[in-house]
Amino acid sequence: MAHICIHWFRKGLRLHDNPALIAALRDCKELYPVFILDPYLHNKTSVGINRWRFLIGALKDLDCSLRKLNSRLFVLRGKPEDVFPKLFNQWKVTKMTYEFDTEPYSLSRDKTVTTLAKDHGVEVIYKISHTLYDIERIIEENNGKAPLTYTRMQAIVKTLGPPKRPISAPTVEDMKDVKTPSFKKHGEEYGLPTLEELGHNTSALFEEKFPGGEQEALRSLDEHMQRTGWVCGFEKPQTSPNSLSPSTTVLSPHVTFGCLSARTFWWRLTDVYQGKKHSDPPVSLHGQLLWREFFYTASVGVPNFNKMEGNPVCTQVDWDTNPEYLAAWREAQTGFPFIDAIMTQLRQEGWIHHLARHAVACFLTRGDLWINWEEGQKVFEELLLDGDWALNAGNWQWLSASTFFHQYFRVYSPVAFGKKTDKNGDYIKKYLPLLKKFPAAYIYEPWKAPHSVQQAAGCIVGKDYPRPLVEHEVISKKNIQRMKLAYAKRSADSESPSKKQGVKRKQPSVADLMKKKEKKK
Ligand code: FAD
Repeated sequence: MAHICIHWFRKGLRLHDNPALIAALRDCKELYPVFILDPYLHNKTSVGINRWRFLIGALKDLDCSLRKLNSRLFVLRGKPEDVFPKLFNQWKVTKMTYEFDTEPYSLSRDKTVTTLAKDHGVEVIYKISHTLYDIERIIEENNGKAPLTYTRMQAIVKTLGPPKRPISAPTVEDMKDVKTPSFKKHGEEYGLPTLEELGHNTSALFEEKFPGGEQEALRSLDEHMQRTGWVCGFEKPQTSPNSLSPSTTVLSPHVTFGCLSARTFWWRLTDVYQGKKHSDPPVSLHGQLLWREFFYTASVGVPNFNKMEGNPVCTQVDWDTNPEYLAAWREAQTGFPFIDAIMTQLRQEGWIHHLARHAVACFLTRGDLWINWEEGQKVFEELLLDGDWALNAGNWQWLSASTFFHQYFRVYSPVAFGKKTDKNGDYIKKYLPLLKKFPAAYIYEPWKAPHSVQQAAGCIVGKDYPRPLVEHEVISKKNIQRMKLAYAKRSADSESPSKKQGVKRKQPSVADLMKKKEKKK
């Protein structure tokens, strides 16, 4: 039977290495590539203007690539469970395909939509291509538990062998018997929204440094892969949090939205490494992709992964509720130029270096402000172009020394850390131009500058730029003691998760059930 098929794009906004899209084309006479603006996922609270711009760019690019195959993208709005039944009837759909997604919301959404599809006689096929491996296989291989250390993760991955090779994008030839019906009012009914239509004030936007889309992702990947010496010598801890142009790849937004397949990234690196001396995980670029896999696995294996409460691997800490401190951190008003410059870059550009994330995350939580990491997670989710449910939650737990990392007594200084790679404070001057006339001796601590220096710099601390919110030397020592207490409480509990190698799942997940069903077929 020739099918009328919907391929549902969610993440995976690409044609290359898209096995679900290829599955859609099998025995297909009509293809509807669909993207849904889902109010749960695509709203103004959790998606900031820069990420919207990236998403719209990625969708535009996808539409453009589909048109080259004589197809096009249909963008719809609403809850998927409301949108799909109408489409199934209207287009007489017989098959639907999508890329598997491990986020809890996605799993429950997909379960609902799959049930609705089956009720409408629509066959559903999903494929795994957002991660390097099938995350369930990693957990299975670790006796049903998520590995909680990178070393353990490496051991498991070694037994699985290298990730699958990516598959090619469909060609015009692959599409020769497939058509996408055209609608007169396509633009009106299924067109892409503009930022203005979505209610954003675009006059506040900064230059788009990292545009979205598969073509841009592949171009950027090519560019990096040509720097073979840089790729082979890459060691993450040696890269700089405050260089004026990024010292790492900035491929993360593309990987998050799936404009770039992680497996394509992995295998391009393998090709570059071939026959050459190169760095290794955890610090190499392969190592970075394994960090991603590590946090994805933990996010699937650990219940309530994005929360402190109910999360069995997370140290329970008596964080303070302090809206003023939180607002000051979010709005780059802490009075520590290094922290404020990073938060400004985040808001303006949507990307900050990994170690810059370390600095501001430690400052907000265990280092200085003693605020729950979940609050930081929310701000990052809104402002990061690469905002990713699993990676954001996993890294915030790491940085707050709640999970994975336990050396809570190692605190980043909001003054000394940045100086290591930028003595002059050029990065601070770029993002906080009101401090640009401060001499290097005071740029990280302007409050220590004599009044005459502040006057000469045209910026009086306490008037033009805030005084430091806290006294780092004092508060960080106090916080280490508070953390020590939280750890003591944690180890007093004989069931302490820190003593376990991983968390065993109580019940099979929706993914398990769906996969078992498919295996049976
Ligand atoms: P590169 O160094 O070039 O690495 C290549 C790829 O490896 C990245 O594109 C990314 O996909 C992956 N990767 C690198 N570092 C990590 C890591 N520590 N954990 C998981 N994957 C990694 N990354 C996100 O993609 N989304 C997030 O929401 C996110 N939130 C974070 C929150 C905090 C508090 C911290 C400390 C880190 C967070 N990270 C997040 C991880 C990391 O900072 C970014 O992935 C990285 O900085 C992206 O830049 P890049 O592409 O230049 O990385």
